[in-house]
Amino acid sequence: MARLSLRGIKKRFKTTDVLHGIDLEIGDREFVVFVGPSGCGKSTLLRLIAGLDPISDGDFFLNDQRMNDVAPSRRGIAMVFQSYALYPHMDVYENMAFGARLMGLTRDEVEKRIADAARMLRLDELLKRKPRELSGGQRQRVAIGRALVRKPDVFLLDEPLSNLDAALRSDVRLEIAKLHRDIGGTMIYVTHDQVEAMTLADKIVVMNAGRIEQVGSPRELYETPANMFVATFIGSPR
Ligand code: ADP
Ligand code: MG
Repeated sequence: MARLSLRGIKKRFKTTDVLHGIDLEIGDREFVVFVGPSGCGKSTLLRLIAGLDPISDGDFFLNDQRMNDVAPSRRGIAMVFQSYALYPHMDVYENMAFGARLMGLTRDEVEKRIADAARMLRLDELLKRKPRELSGGQRQRVAIGRALVRKPDVFLLDEPLSNLDAALRSDVRLEIAKLHRDIGGTMIYVTHDQVEAMTLADKIVVMNAGRIEQVGSPRELYETPANMFVATFIGSPR
């Protein structure tokens, strides 16, 4: 059974069509990476899946339930943003607790989940710090931890490494790969970096100008690109 199903998804902002009809099935536990040039609609698509923006046309199903009109907090989906989007006046613990409390979890349950997430992401020593007292890599781990404590079925990660320097980038990338192995949820990961896509993905979705050009394993895309765009994009150095 497909966990996520996108059928003819379109998005229009005023008079601009940004997504022209996206059809895609994503299986349970799959690590799917969306790649494509800046402006092709990757973030827009994630925001529709998360429920942060309304879908203009088409349907989105999660476990066979139509999600178009379901509130973001009830979708079982958590999103990690490029900019971390941490609350500056809250410490790390509070940042991680906030979304979990909104779900109506008890204090004890929230505490337990934060302890588990902190251990997994090596944040135990940092729980009392404010975001400004953290490095970029630590902030991004907090943002991932905040998503993790909600125990989502689906993780959305929008260019989570792009604000990190090269060394940290490979650290956090390994962290994300490990997280996927440990918790086994469905990951949807957006990047404009082919190398990230090739190393993380079970399945890569190549987007261009609001459309899908090709879907396949890293190997399939590398060996049998569907067209010139895919060949050039996957084959070109960063
Ligand atoms: P990507 O994440 O692939 O770089 P985006 O999804 O952010 O691309 O943007 C796709 C297109 O949609 C861009 O042309 C962008 O300018 C446009 N866009 C995104 N959000 C809005 C918005 N809120 N209003 C109008 N246009 C938008
Ligand atoms: Mg984007």
